[in-house]
Amino acid sequence: MAVLAVAELKGDSLKKISRELVSAGRTLGTPVVALLVNGTDAHAKELFAAGADTVVKANLATYSPEGMANIVSAVAKEKGAKVVLAAHSVLGRDFAGRVAVQIGANVAADVVSITGSLDNIDLKKPIYSGKAYANIRIKSPAVITVRPNSQEVKAHSGAEAIENSSAAEGSVNGKIVSTDLSGGSKVQLTDASVIVSGGRGIKGPENWPLLQSLCDTIGAALGASRAAVDAGWIAHSHQVGQTGKTVSPNCYIACGISGAIQHLAGMGSSKYIVAINKDKDAPIFKVATYGVVDDLFKVVPALTDEFKKVLG
Ligand SMILES: Cc1cc2nc3c(=O)[nH]c(=O)nc-3n(C[C@H](O)[C@H](O)[C@H](O)COP(=O)(O)OP(=O)(O)OC[C@H]3O[C@@H](n4cnc5c(N)ncnc54)[C@H](O)[C@@H]3O)c2cc1C
Repeated sequence: MAVLAVAELKGDSLKKISRELVSAGRTLGTPVVALLVNGTDAHAKELFAAGADTVVKANLATYSPEGMANIVSAVAKEKGAKVVLAAHSVLGRDFAGRVAVQIGANVAADVVSITGSLDNIDLKKPIYSGKAYANIRIKSPAVITVRPNSQEVKAHSGAEAIENSSAAEGSVNGKIVSTDLSGGSKVQLTDASVIVSGGRGIKGPENWPLLQSLCDTIGAALGASRAAVDAGWIAHSHQVGQTGKTVSPNCYIACGISGAIQHLAGMGSSKYIVAINKDKDAPIFKVATYGVVDDLFKVVPALTDEFKKVLG
C-alpha cells in the first residue's frame, strides 16, 4: 500500500508542485512512491528530499493523455497505490480522470488540503468560485489533483530507491503532433510564487512596462484582470480569474484591480494579497493582507526602487 505522486517537469526542471505532492502524500502515513516520467536522477534526488521513499522512472516518447494515463495506472497497480496524487495543472487535469476510470478510483479535483488516513482521506477544496470551501471525506482508492502552491514542501531524509518501470503508453488513439507556443509571460503564472497583476486602473497597454519592471526586480509573473484583457491590452494567457487562470502564489500584488468576485475566484487562495488601489472602498481591500490606498503610478515605481535597493 502506498501513495503514488505523479511528478511533473517543465523543460529540464522539476515543477515545485511535484515536491508538494510528495510532501502531501506523507501526511497519509504510508510510503510515498513518486512517478517520474522522462526525468533524471537529479530530479529523483529532489523528490527524495521532499519525502519520496521510492522513485519509479518511466519513459513516454510523445505525450498523450491516454499514454500518460496508461503508464500512471500501470505503476499504480504495480505499487499497490491506494491514492494517486497529481497536479491540478493542464497536464494533471488531462490524465487524472482517465487514471481514475482505469483503476476504479474516486476522484477529487483542485484540492488545497489533504489530511486523514489512506482509507479515509479528508480534503478541502474551494467551491463557488472561491467563495466557500468544501470539506470532503473520500475513501480510497482515490485520484486527487492538488492546486499548485497549496502544499508545504517538508524536508525529508530516508531510504532512496530508484526503480525503472517498463510501463508503456499502450494503445493510444490520439497524439499531439505539434505545439505552437505563444510568447506568454517570462515566469509561468500558475507556477509563480509571486504575481504582479494589473487591471483597468493601469489605463492602457503602454503602462505594462511599469509592472513588468517590478516583476523583473522580484522575479514575479505578470497577471491581468479580465477588464485589461478584454480591452486588448494583454493576451488572455495572462488573465487571472474565473474565466482565466487559477493561481495560488505566496504573494499576489493587485494593481488597479477592483476585486470583482470573478477575479477573486482565481487568486483568493494566495497566501498574501497586496492591493494598490486609489479607491479605499474597492472590494479587493476586503481580501487584502496589506493595502495601499494611493495612485499606482506613484506606488509601483517607488516599490520597484525600494526592492532594487534591498535586493541589490
Ligand atoms: C462570467 C464572468 C466571468 C468573468 N471572469 C473574470 C476573470 O476571469 N477575471 C477577471 O479579472 N474578471 C472577470 N470578470 C469580470 C469582472 O466582473 C470585472 O469586471 C473585472 O474583474 C474588473 O476588472 P478590473 O478590476 O481591472 O476593473 P475595474 O473593476 O474597472 O477596476 C479598476 C480599479 O482600478 C482602480 N484604479 C483606477 N486608477 C487607479 C490608479 N491610478 N491607481 C490605483 N488604482 C486605480 C479603481 O479604483 C478600480 O478599483 C468576469 C465577469 C463575468 C460576468
